Parts: sequence; structure tokens; C-alpha cells
Amino acid sequence: MKCPLCWAEKAYLRPVRGWTKWFLRCLALRPMKCQHCYHKFVVFWPLTIGKRIVPPALKIYQPPAMGRESTVASDSQPQMKVPRRTKAA
Ligand SMILES: [Zn+2]
Repeated sequence: MKCPLCWAEKAYLRPVRGWTKWFLRCLALRPMKCQHCYHKFVVFWPLTIGKRIVPPALKIYQPPAMGRESTVASDSQPQMKVPRRTKAA
């Protein structure tokens, strides 16, 4: 889902607890959080139909040979890379 602040396609469902969860559910709102700018917002439930609201799962690298340990590979897809902002020195 698109973030209304930074327009990144990286806003996913945000877990909420307690009465807030039920309050939002009664109003048909879904709590979302952008993973790019950490902006928290709610969106009307019908607007999430057809959108990706669950973050993509991390891929677990499995070596071709029978290895003793399994390592978690970072997501190395080029479209998932976020350019790091560095402060000008
Ligand atoms: Zn954002």
C-alpha cells in the first residue's frame, strides 16, 4: 500500500492491541505503518482491497549441499533496495 507521506509502496499493517484494535475495527479502519518513513496512519478498509498490506517474507538461503547451519540471506532484489541517505560531510 502506498504511504500518503512519502508515496513509497512500503506501508504495511501495523499490529495494535487493546481497545484501539476494536475501535478501529468497528470503524472499518486498518492501522498501517510505512516501513520507509515510519509514518503511522489508518486507512479505510475497502481501500486496502487488492493492495499488498503484508510485508514480504524474508527469504531463507538454503545451501545446495547438506549444510549444518542455515543462514538468513538478506533481501538482495534490486527493486527492494532503499537508497541510504547520508548526511553531507
Ligand atoms: Zn512513508
